[in-house]
Amino acid sequence: MSPGEDDSSVPPLPGASHRAKRSLGQNFLVDGNLQRKIVEAVEPAPLDEILEIGPGRGALTRHLLGRCRRLVLVELDDALASGWEERHRMDPGVEVIHGDILKVPLTRVTSQVASLKVVGNIPYNITAPILFHLLTPPRPALVVLMVQEEVADRILAPPGTPSYGALSIGVQGVAVVERVLRVPRTAFRPVPRVDSAVVAIRPHHPPRRSPGEEGEVRRLVRAAFQWRRKQLGTILRGHPELAWSEEELEELRERSGLDLRRRPETLSPDEFAWLALERGMAR
Ligand code: SAH
Repeated sequence: MSPGEDDSSVPPLPGASHRAKRSLGQNFLVDGNLQRKIVEAVEPAPLDEILEIGPGRGALTRHLLGRCRRLVLVELDDALASGWEERHRMDPGVEVIHGDILKVPLTRVTSQVASLKVVGNIPYNITAPILFHLLTPPRPALVVLMVQEEVADRILAPPGTPSYGALSIGVQGVAVVERVLRVPRTAFRPVPRVDSAVVAIRPHHPPRRSPGEEGEVRRLVRAAFQWRRKQLGTILRGHPELAWSEEELEELRERSGLDLRRRPETLSPDEFAWLALERGMAR
């Protein structure tokens, strides 16, 4: 980071001389205007507990400090994590967890997961596992993440569009999603090869379905998209994970009028859920 990019009104942030590590997906956001906009999307409030994934050199952290009751930073990089630990050793409002976010359950971050807000400019190679981790119950109140633009497209895609698939349904089935910003690659150092976007994910509270029901839906969605070119009837009947009987299919047709010639990418998240749970009840 060049001196001009640092904010001299706050004490020095860790890692000013830190060299970016590609293995940890380190692309630091240097555009101050975008930094602020992302933090505003988290709507930090004085009583909030906020988790930041991968604070790095503090691009987002600097705008979060002092704006919430408790800020938890999870950072895997040894040097950056000890920099943050050092800087906030005496600060009861900031807690640093030196480790891999995928190994830190949200219940370890707070006893009140349902009101936790999560923000992160995360390493793109682990976007899907991070999303899965954050959206496994109990879910936080709000998740604001920087992701590769194509991944944002997939998260937000409506049925019948090319980007629509298991990721769209997995997220939209449990949360309300919104694109907050587009972020050009030039906003980062080093400059990555892809453009980015920030998405806000607001999980339903309370969840609409039990964990067991969500598992059923996921199983159906996964199977359907493995056979994405086939018609629904063929998938339900023929996919080894599903293997619906002719009677079950007939009953479904009668009860719902669902057109079994439709292809998986035309079914909405609600239709998938309905279909998965309908079967559970029929059995
Ligand atoms: N938020 C900063 C840094 C983004 S780069 C900014 O916007 O500039 C991604 C950050 O995530 C880096 O600090 C990297 O060290 C950290 N990181 C990478 N893998 C991680 C993991 N598994 N768990 C927690 N942090 C991780």
